[in-house]
Amino acid sequence: MSDLANIKARYLGKKSVLVEQYARMKDITPQDKPAFGNSLNQSKTALEQLFSDKETELKHKSWSQNKDAVSDLTLPGVIPAQGSLHPLTIVLREIEDVFMSMGFEVAEGFDIEDEYHNFDALNTPSDHPSRNLADTFYLKDGNLLRTQTSTVQVRVMENYPPPIKIISPGRCYRNDKADASHSPVFHQVEALVVDEEISLGDLKDTLQIFAERMFGSKVKTRIRPHFFPFTEPSAEMDMSCVMCGGSGCKVCKQSGWLELGGAGMVDPNVFDMLKIDSEKYSGFAFGLGIDRIAMMKFDIPDLRILFENDLRFLKQFR
Ligand SMILES: [Zn+2]
Repeated sequence: MSDLANIKARYLGKKSVLVEQYARMKDITPQDKPAFGNSLNQSKTALEQLFSDKETELKHKSWSQNKDAVSDLTLPGVIPAQGSLHPLTIVLREIEDVFMSMGFEVAEGFDIEDEYHNFDALNTPSDHPSRNLADTFYLKDGNLLRTQTSTVQVRVMENYPPPIKIISPGRCYRNDKADASHSPVFHQVEALVVDEEISLGDLKDTLQIFAERMFGSKVKTRIRPHFFPFTEPSAEMDMSCVMCGGSGCKVCKQSGWLELGGAGMVDPNVFDMLKIDSEKYSGFAFGLGIDRIAMMKFDIPDLRILFENDLRFLKQFR
């Protein structure tokens, strides 16, 4: 195209042969002038038409060449950037599906809570160590970042009469230093069932069904006595090691078991405080670490990887 422009300048530009000829007009005799001028004008029109045709032709040629390039199926394609779900989202959705298939509803609450819903209503005395500044993030106005999603259970029990069958998944905060198994931000899902004649057996069944649906039918679960302020009796829940199947390995520290979380029967004191008839109703609650479950499911060795947003890691979950 630029070659054509140069040639056009030579024939039709200010210093062109044509302009030189027009300059000769003044030397031509009056009787020859019309014929001379006419032929010059005709040449000019013919040249202009020629260049215009050539320009159009070249333009079309370059378009059709481009079109051919686009439809060349042998060329490598451009892969569009594609997003994917975060492993924690994948696991959370799976957990929600499992519990919803057992008739649970999903309840959500606030990340910023007051002391009443995070501690008092959960039977945690004011001198309990978990309430101090070293463990809990307090805000200037006296509220705090919830240390557990049990706060949602309290709000549900305040507002809805039994029967209650909910899970409350969400983000929790504790003043922990980040390492391979701790993070100041982590994800929990708590389950709460309140109805007449709910027993520890119901808790064990629910836990076993959940573990099987998440990790396969071979998995075993067990509970061990423990203490939590808001459940009585309280228990720790374990699951047979998903790496070695229970025979003992590095992941389970040769014990064959992995800790799943805390559980127990709702303390009648909690029911009394929330004006639920503790003579008529009983219930169980348990809490599971979503991050821990994701680590077990996807064989992730370090909790921190889940929060670093490193694309090399996240791309595996496409
Ligand atoms: Zn193991």
